[in-house]
Amino acid sequence: MNVHASHTSHGSQKSFDYPLQDARGATCTAHAWAKVPPPQTPAQRAAAKEHAARLLKLHDAVLVAHYYVDGDLQDLALETGGCVADSLEMARFGRDHAAKTLVVAGVRFMGESAKILSPDKRVLMPDLDATCSLDLGCPPDEFAAFCDAHPDRQVVVYANTSAAVKARADWMVTSSCALAIVRHLKEQGQKILWAPDRHLGRYIQEQTGADMVMWNGACIVHDEFKGLELELLKQQHPGAQILVHPESPQSVVAMADVVGSTTQILDAVVQGSAQEYIIATDNGLLHRMRQLAPGKTLIEAPTAGNSATCKSCAHCPWMAMNALQGVVDCLEHGHGEIVVPEDVRRQALGCIDRMLAFVKANPGALQAPRRGFVPEVGAA
Ligand code: SF4
Repeated sequence: MNVHASHTSHGSQKSFDYPLQDARGATCTAHAWAKVPPPQTPAQRAAAKEHAARLLKLHDAVLVAHYYVDGDLQDLALETGGCVADSLEMARFGRDHAAKTLVVAGVRFMGESAKILSPDKRVLMPDLDATCSLDLGCPPDEFAAFCDAHPDRQVVVYANTSAAVKARADWMVTSSCALAIVRHLKEQGQKILWAPDRHLGRYIQEQTGADMVMWNGACIVHDEFKGLELELLKQQHPGAQILVHPESPQSVVAMADVVGSTTQILDAVVQGSAQEYIIATDNGLLHRMRQLAPGKTLIEAPTAGNSATCKSCAHCPWMAMNALQGVVDCLEHGHGEIVVPEDVRRQALGCIDRMLAFVKANPGALQAPRRGFVPEVGAA
């Protein structure tokens, strides 16, 4: 293993560059939070849900929602024959569904993935400004220069990237097949260029010993979880299982009973024998957990808290921009449509197809022990 190269990162920590910044010019999520629709009364929510359900039927559309979006949207998706899932399953569900229009409640790269896999369908999103710090922190032109500087490496990117970044990649991976694919590449004698999440990259490098150079991105939600505070919380709940998404910092992953994608964390609660669970991922997932595992105690892992540095407090501001009214608006007016240029789409499809083919051909490679990555394909 080339120790030097394996720990190389691309420059200093990449901050995401949100177009609207705060008064001091600092990047922040204030604009995203400002666009989060105000809470509605129960009567308003029921009326909006009914209206959205009617429009989905009228427009031959299906709602595909991520686990992190508002509970009303998750319920609407399930009640109208759509799905609530992780990002890859959302794209696969959309591809295999007969509906002519997909309404994707999540963030922009999820809408793009749906369009890449379903080019003949119309893909709408409640708010096209809903994005992701990993995507924003990995601009295609800078990423292309990084790839150009390492022409001897296989380019492996996480699902949380734009179509343009995927178009430059050899492989796309999700959080649970990443380990098997990087191990496979290492066995072939390949060196890796990894982007964009530095925590997930570090975890994979530790587990596989692969020679990896890394982009230095982070998820603003998972990056906020704190190892020391988690240790203190565990002392108060010694019987609790700690479930951690691998986009979290090393000190948090080190304490995990299970490290896995959103779907695997959900499964660990539903199938687990423990009564209490400490969850280190976006708290939007707790809505579905409460439905599928009533009676179990779910505790949010500690973040930086409501301090000046906390951008998320365990909830993604961009996911929070999705609301029932956005579904109504995009279907009524046809706005929020995802467009991916055909040449970019075709190139991006290559790295996704390669991953899907690997997973199909190597189901055994994904069977990991419960502690560590949980098998099956999943993503943030
Ligand atoms: S939770 Fe993190 S990885 Fe997921 S969309 Fe938000 S910023 Fe991106």
